[in-house]
Amino acid sequence: MLVIIGGGAAGIFASAICAEKGKGVDIVVLEKTRQLLSKVRISGGGRCNVTHAQFEPKKLAGNYPRGNKELLGPFHAFQPQDTIAWFDKHGVTLKTEEDGRMFPVSDQSSTIIDCLLSSAKNSGVEIRLEQCVRGIEKTEHGFRVDIENREPVECRYLLLATGSSPIGYELAASFGHTITPPVPSLFTFNVPSSQLNDLAGIVVDDAEISIKNLKQRGPLLITHWGFSGPAALKLSAWAARELHACNYRTEIFINWIPDYNPEKAFDLLNQIKEQNPKKTLEGENPFHLPMNLWKRFLQLSGIALGQPIGHLPKKELSLLASSLTRSSFFQDGKTIYKQEFVTSGGVALSEINFRSFESRLIPNLFFAGELLDIDGVTGGFNFQNAWTSAYLAASCIAKRHPQTN
Ligand SMILES: Cc1cc2nc3c(=O)[nH]c(=O)nc-3n(C[C@H](O)[C@H](O)[C@H](O)COP(=O)(O)OP(=O)(O)OC[C@H]3O[C@@H](n4cnc5c(N)ncnc54)[C@H](O)[C@@H]3O)c2cc1C
Repeated sequence: MLVIIGGGAAGIFASAICAEKGKGVDIVVLEKTRQLLSKVRISGGGRCNVTHAQFEPKKLAGNYPRGNKELLGPFHAFQPQDTIAWFDKHGVTLKTEEDGRMFPVSDQSSTIIDCLLSSAKNSGVEIRLEQCVRGIEKTEHGFRVDIENREPVECRYLLLATGSSPIGYELAASFGHTITPPVPSLFTFNVPSSQLNDLAGIVVDDAEISIKNLKQRGPLLITHWGFSGPAALKLSAWAARELHACNYRTEIFINWIPDYNPEKAFDLLNQIKEQNPKKTLEGENPFHLPMNLWKRFLQLSGIALGQPIGHLPKKELSLLASSLTRSSFFQDGKTIYKQEFVTSGGVALSEINFRSFESRLIPNLFFAGELLDIDGVTGGFNFQNAWTSAYLAASCIAKRHPQTN
């Protein structure tokens, strides 16, 4: 028998795969709450961002601040194309949005939930709700699973898919697995002292945001409280540990025109001054920034609106060039990004065999999903980790189990 602890994306997908591939494996899913797939339901604003249209394993793995090396092999075995094909085979078509995120065409997470649950149940998976697993022990032939206020269950194969639940970490640790302490990932930056907060809603399509030696480039959104948007969210994931260590209080830098450094930006401004001395910088907007933001940079650099460029001293042009290319802000806190947030940390990756997601310490013990010290940036990558790890673990169990017919 296979017992899967956790009825989330990884647990239910693993149960369906193992039931489809294995002949005669009894499969039981134990879920502590009354609801299965609860994160799938709320994910992607209720639409479920199932995966991402990135089909090149190396590029795909580059979206995981934790797990990028380890997932490369698994993505050669099960990647977004396989996710798309599996859902398609089970009656769900996925569509791709402009930024690569993939959703069910229905735009309803319930489509994904219905598909996963009917696939599992129709293949004979038994799902037990309100079963909170409190302990696991190794027995002669497998494992004994202790459940709060219930009889224990014995099984030969055990798959832990408990997400970021603290009990899940305790269960893994009870078998000697190392747990990398969990810290939040995917959040936006609070910058209460920013002089741009009243410009909330402005998006700069291509900006570079950095903390110490970590940087991310892409669309950046100015918010009422600081900065958000893909570039900020990606940086929050890559810098999750560093930011946690400094209690989310640190200096951040933004280059609003990342194709330029201060010298190159100054040269361009100076060239405009020499060639068009009667024009205004405001009217020229040579870096094509959103107009209100551009005007704000002129003001912050002491440049009066309407002033001819020819009248501007080099000092002011130089100040403008450096604030455009290296604006400094002080981050003071973070705000959880409600569309999708994940935990960085979990079962240490050095203790996992990435061909099968089996424990290197205990044979027949498997892991899948967010319980592992793997997390991706926003865009469907976290579910893809759940699908890939669940698929490989379930396939290995199905193959290992003696076939009965
Ligand atoms: C608001 C929100 C939106 C998100 N949106 C997206 C998105 O659009 N795209 C994306 O890729 N990712 C998204 N994510 C991240 C994604 O939901 C997770 O990475 C994914 O759900 C992890 O799946 P999992 O099965 O490993 O864990 P979970 O989905 O957390 O499932 C774990 C399950 O285990 C159960 N459990 C825990 N402990 C026990 C126990 N002791 N006994 C029995 N059962 C137990 C839990 O109750 C839970 O049902 C979002 C996350 C959040 C919070």
